[in-house]
Amino acid sequence: MRAPWWMKGVAFSCQTSCGKCCDEPGGIVYLSIADAERISSEHEMNVEDWLERDCRQTLDGRYVLNSRPDDGICIYLDDNKQCSIYQVRPQQCAAFPWWSENLATDRAWNKVKDACPGIEADDAILIDGETVRIHVFADRESTKGFRSWPPHNKR
Ligand code: SF4
Repeated sequence: MRAPWWMKGVAFSCQTSCGKCCDEPGGIVYLSIADAERISSEHEMNVEDWLERDCRQTLDGRYVLNSRPDDGICIYLDDNKQCSIYQVRPQQCAAFPWWSENLATDRAWNKVKDACPGIEADDAILIDGETVRIHVFADRESTKGFRSWPPHNKR
């Protein structure tokens, strides 16, 4: 089988004070089990209480982060368009732009390139294929998500 195009590496550097990938009304952030443990702990809450306060469930039961009711933007994006939980942010957020759906076709990747100034930015560095692959798997794990706490698929 041929290696995916991105295995040769892709130039990228997340741009300071950009926030474009979070500033999307209606964006959905799926959560992994590790995300729920890490982010609730950052808030010094038990997981159940944090899920109740900051998350909701999709129609098929997976937990996702809440959005602000007025504009549909992630509750953790602050007024300066910075992630207020950046150090512990969900792995799906950390994996952007290396989501399977973004890498799947030229068309999808071109769309992400138009939206994300970090791709091929002047200060971009080559992200090697192995690193991209780790993010692709992290995104997939988050997308699978969990539907109850404690989760049935706990590692
Ligand atoms: S958790 Fe942080 S990085 Fe993820 S969408 Fe919200 S603001 Fe953006």
